[in-house]
Formats: sequence, C-alpha cells, structure tokens
Amino acid sequence: MDTKYIFVTGGVVSSLGKGIISASIGRLLQARGYKVTIQKFDPYINIDPGTLNPYEHGECYVTVDGMETDLDLGHYERFTGIHTTRNNSITTGRIYKTVIDRERRGDYLGKTIQVVPHITDEIKRRMLREEEKDEQLDFVITEVGGTIGDIESAPFMEAIRQLRWQLGRNAVSVHLTYVPYLKAADELKTKPTQHSVKELQGMGIQPDILVLRTERHLDDHIRMKVASFCNVDLECVVQSEDMPSIYEVPVSMQHQGLDAAILRKIGIPVGETPAMKPWHDFLDKQRNAQREVHIGLVGKYDLQDAYKSIRESLNLAGIYNGAKVRLHFVNSEAITRENVAEKLDGLAGIVICPGFGTRGIEGKIVAAEYTRTHDIPTFGICLGMQMMVIEFARNVLGYKDANSREMDEQTPHNVIDIMEEQKSITQMGGTMRLGAYECKLLEGSRAYEAYNHSQFSTIQQFNSSTISERHRHRYEFNNAYTDEYEAKGMKCTGINPAANLVEIVEIPEKRWYIGTQFHPEYSSTVLHPNPFFMSFVKACL
Ligand code: GLN
Repeated sequence: MDTKYIFVTGGVVSSLGKGIISASIGRLLQARGYKVTIQKFDPYINIDPGTLNPYEHGECYVTVDGMETDLDLGHYERFTGIHTTRNNSITTGRIYKTVIDRERRGDYLGKTIQVVPHITDEIKRRMLREEEKDEQLDFVITEVGGTIGDIESAPFMEAIRQLRWQLGRNAVSVHLTYVPYLKAADELKTKPTQHSVKELQGMGIQPDILVLRTERHLDDHIRMKVASFCNVDLECVVQSEDMPSIYEVPVSMQHQGLDAAILRKIGIPVGETPAMKPWHDFLDKQRNAQREVHIGLVGKYDLQDAYKSIRESLNLAGIYNGAKVRLHFVNSEAITRENVAEKLDGLAGIVICPGFGTRGIEGKIVAAEYTRTHDIPTFGICLGMQMMVIEFARNVLGYKDANSREMDEQTPHNVIDIMEEQKSITQMGGTMRLGAYECKLLEGSRAYEAYNHSQFSTIQQFNSSTISERHRHRYEFNNAYTDEYEAKGMKCTGINPAANLVEIVEIPEKRWYIGTQFHPEYSSTVLHPNPFFMSFVKACL
C-alpha cells in the first residue's frame, strides 16, 4: 500500500494535547497492524530545542540517534513503542538552514530563493520523508506545533495545502480545537471552533476530521452544529474530554471511531475494531492500583513539563507495581542542612533530577547526603548521579572541596570531569554526548538484577549484561578516583565498554542508592516500563 499521510494541526489555543492525539492515532493504527511513524514540525527558529531553557519549552527529549527534540516525541514513543530519530523532529530553523546551505553551495543556479516554493518544498520533502523512502511505512503522522493563524506556521500550512492536493485521498487533515464552557451562561461555545476552521479553510485546507477538546461532554446537537458549520461529516467530529489519565485517550478515540473515520476518508476498508488487549490490561492495572507511594523530585524546575519523561516513567512503574505514585516537587535551591529532614519528610524515595549549571546543586548534594545516611531509596539521574558522586567524595572520601569541573573549573578534586572529546568544543548546540550508548552491567549488582529480573524486558537490551540507554551530558565520572570510591563502598556497576566511562554507580549496602549517567526515563513506554524505574519504585514501596 502507498504511504498515507495524516496532518494534525491545532486551533484556538495551544496546549490542547495535539501530541497525545497524534500518539493515540499512531497507537490505534498500529493496533490494526499498520506500520506508522509520528513526526513533529515546530515553527520556531532554533535548530532544535537542545539549547532552550525548560521554562521555554519543557523537557528536551533525546532520541536513540542523539537528537534533542520536543517532549511530544516522548508521548509518541511511550504510546507506540517506536523509536523516533532526528528525522522526526523538524523546526523552521532546520528547514531554513538546509535551504540556506544549499544556496551558499550554489545549488539553486542563480535563482531567487523564496518562502514559496523553496521553503515550502523543503518542508514538503521532510513531511514526505523523502530521505527515508526505504522505511516502508503505511502511515506518517505529522503534527505541526503552534496554533492556526500564527505568522510563523504559515509556510507549514501552505505545504500541507499543496500536499493534500498532490496526494489526494492519501492525505487526511485532522484539526484540534477547543470548545469552552461559559459558566455564567451554562453553555458550551462552538464559535471559536468555527473561526479556527474558517481560518484553516482560508489557507486552502478543509479539515477532514475535527477533534474538539472540552471539559464538558458534548452532546450530538453540538457535534452536529460543528459538523454543519465546518463542512465535516458528523462521524468525523469527535471529542476529547478530560480523562483521568492520558493513556485513556486512545481508547476513547477508538470508541468514537477516530481511526475508522481516518480509514474511511482514505478509502481503506475499516474491518473489525482491534481489541488492544495489552493496552486494556495496562489500563486495568492503572485503575486498580490501590497503594500510594510518595516520591520526591529534587530539582530546580518547578514546572510539570521540565521532568516529563521522569514523571511518566515513575507513574508507569508505579502502575506496574500496583501503586499510584504521588510526586512531590522539592526545589533543590531551598534545601539546606537545617531543613532537609523536614523537606523530605514522608517521602518513600527521591529522584535527584538532571540539569545544567550551579543553581540548586548544593541542595541536591545535601539531599543525597540525607538519603544516603538515612537509607532512603535514591535515584540520581545524570546531574543527579554526579551530585551523588560529589556528596560521597566530600563526606565519605573526605575531599571537602570535591566538585564537578562544570561548577568549579579550579577544583583540586574533580571527581566529575569534562570528557576528553568535549574539551575542544566551543559551540553549544547539539554537541554533547547524545543518544544511545552501550553499558555493560556488573553481574550481581542491583542494576544487573533490575534489568534481568524484570518481567518487562526492554527493547534496548542486547543480552543479560549489556544494555543501551540514552545520554545527554558533557561531564563524566573521573576514573582516577574509581579505586577510592569502590574501597569505601560506592561501586561502579555499569561501564561503557568503548570509552570505559562510568555509567552507573551504586552503594550495595543501601536499600536502593543508584545513580545513572544515562537517562533511563527516555526508554520507558506504556507497555515496557524501564527496569530501573520498576526496581526503584518497588524499593520505595
Ligand atoms: N550538566 C551535566 C553534564 O553536562 C549533566 C547533564 C544532565 O543532567 N543531562 O554532564
């Protein structure tokens, strides 16, 4: 079958959950046996979100091939289990860079380079995934960031208009809008949706399917009104109500026939509705999770999206352990030796979060000391692991001035040091140690146990002692200190064989005190929770 293209756009307001809808469509089509991929086009000028502050853009999600991308790619992977790559995350900046590089090489042979057709052609080429023709995909789902009417998304809309014309029935347009509820009038309002669709039509795109985001149930009368004002079939108007969990969304979409509507538009026989047994099993576990476990996130970003994948990984691991994880953000900037006991009071375990720069690191170190000396399960990720290592140097090895070179260039005890290949790098964007690298696990260690006794084997595991996880860092454990650490009880239990770089440290005599240089949160999916998170939450319980 020819590849089919689904374009997902949003109107009225941002944060409607386009990423979740795109991921849900992907999951539903997969359940029907189709091979899918999902890609995101973001209209900003940055080449990638790697250099963006989490306050601007939330978490930066890292693909196996080392691209720093939008957090929606995390939803795509968690929902579908596919591995996205650098070709699944495109920005205006990357489009322009490609075109301008080509112009500098002289490839355009003296032509004037313009938004139409040169920029739009490059967008189309990427939307069609022309460089990946051998993927043999049945469906490519393309989500466009931003909201209809934004000046900066106009070239993307023009590209979609042209593609729909070019591809005919092989292209479907899904548009998400918002139906607000006005309390004083006790009414749901469809006018913003009508305006949004008009705006889309004005750009030459007639949506095939409308997904109406709403906090109240929409009755048939409202759906009918939207259908008739927007030239869309009634069965193609579905609603996305608030759900107790985002993982209920695919099922809700299936009930309303969203996937069937897409297939009908394309002209593919709809056939039976897939049972999605593993997904329903997961949802049953989620609904039945009885126990509660309180876990602290020790970091400097007080916003939900900054640690998105960590939060989701903990929630998923909780569900598979029969528990609801209650997350508590503990601002590391506010942690001191005096108040740490109070700040961490009632928490069954803590995650010391990743990050960059000095802000909040002393609080992370104090927290690491407190949980180590009180034997509270502790999971340090990337910078979190580095802070565990520094804490151990200061308080156990006796190097009071131990630090990371990132924080103190002059430190005489650089237990965390800059990686050799990073020393000559001056450009910030996309130059860290990024993406998946192998890690060899020490037999008998807790890390080894976690990966080998998990009933949810991960797709990343090569054999019982070699795993592969994703990275995003410039600094590393300084191997000059390995013997001292090991002699005093902190063991290096995971090593990258190629670089001899320490990937995991743990204190075996503690209940669960482990730091990973890699980010295991990027590989957790709904059907395959990451073994490290499984093991950590179990210890917290
Ligand atoms: N700032 C640290 C480094 O570059 C850790 C990075 C992170 O936590 N992702 O090594």
